[in-house]
Amino acid sequence: MNLIEQLQKAGIPLAEQEPMTRRTTFGIGGPALLLRPRSRAELQAAMTLCREAGEEPFILGRGSNLLVSDSGISRPVIQLDGDFTAITREGNTLRCGAGASLIAVCRAAAENSLSGIEWGYGIPGSLGGGVYMNAGAYGGELKDVVTEVTALYPDGVKVLTPAELDFSYRHSVFSAGEGIVLGAKVKLESGDPDAIKAKMDDLMARRKASQPLELPSAGSTFKRPTGYYAGPLIEGCGLKGCRVGGAEVSSKHAGFVVNVGGATCADVLALIEKVQKTVYDAHGVMLEPEVKIIR
Ligand code: FAD
Repeated sequence: MNLIEQLQKAGIPLAEQEPMTRRTTFGIGGPALLLRPRSRAELQAAMTLCREAGEEPFILGRGSNLLVSDSGISRPVIQLDGDFTAITREGNTLRCGAGASLIAVCRAAAENSLSGIEWGYGIPGSLGGGVYMNAGAYGGELKDVVTEVTALYPDGVKVLTPAELDFSYRHSVFSAGEGIVLGAKVKLESGDPDAIKAKMDDLMARRKASQPLELPSAGSTFKRPTGYYAGPLIEGCGLKGCRVGGAEVSSKHAGFVVNVGGATCADVLALIEKVQKTVYDAHGVMLEPEVKIIR
């Protein structure tokens, strides 16, 4: 039996040639074998079968920080589903599955009159991807509220404390590529439900006013360089509206590369290089992509 037949026999939901255009907010990327385990048992079975076949799967969140190659992803791709999307309350803590969207976590917090994660409303990723990236916005980041992460390693499940998570700007212990985030505890404070909702609505309105949310993208293309902001540096070089194929430096926010229609991974990479070179020549600052490039 080949790997696909074994996965099917184990009852793991899969799609053999899933276009990554459908699984990334950029709408870019060729096909991959997509597995969507619904429980810890299915995930562990999928990991075992893939590893026995010599394949190390790529863990996909909601694809909101990814630029996937036009030829697709050669490894099996795992996207957590089912049980992994659950969010439950224990006092002032939300226990969240890694597959839950950050937006759903923020909504659950508001519904339970819990404050402290309003800043996350509008980040289109999953909790697992957010932990991996230490996602943050408007002065908040997951580092401030995550008190515990449960993760799967080749030798079993481990519970990590904040000290072990090694959070820093857009970085966590998972950035090294080891460990699958299964879920996390998010500790919040009791708050006034109207004030929580008003803050979330205000931050969403600020996003809509300043970011090109009407076009596909992967959010901020570059990390914030020390001492600068990427957007103004890029805008200052006259690059707003600059295009390669279907990829464009947003004319609304120069920190975003957007897909104005039919952009390929190659288009985006060529535009990223052009921006890096222009900004470096003008300011001596080398912009580092925040977007993860997956081949
Ligand atoms: P993906 O993009 O799918 O994956 C990112 C990385 O996380 C990959 O390496 C992947 O392997 C890894 N990963 C995903 N899930 C797991 C898991 N369970 N276990 C281990 N590794 C995992 N980001 C911000 O920080 N702040 C913002 O304000 C912000 N605004 C955005 C606005 C827009 C319009 C867009 C499109 C993006 C924005 N982003 C922002 C970027 C993005 O949403 C975040 O980086 C988010 O945390 C990525 O989560 P994801 O689930 O989409 O992960």
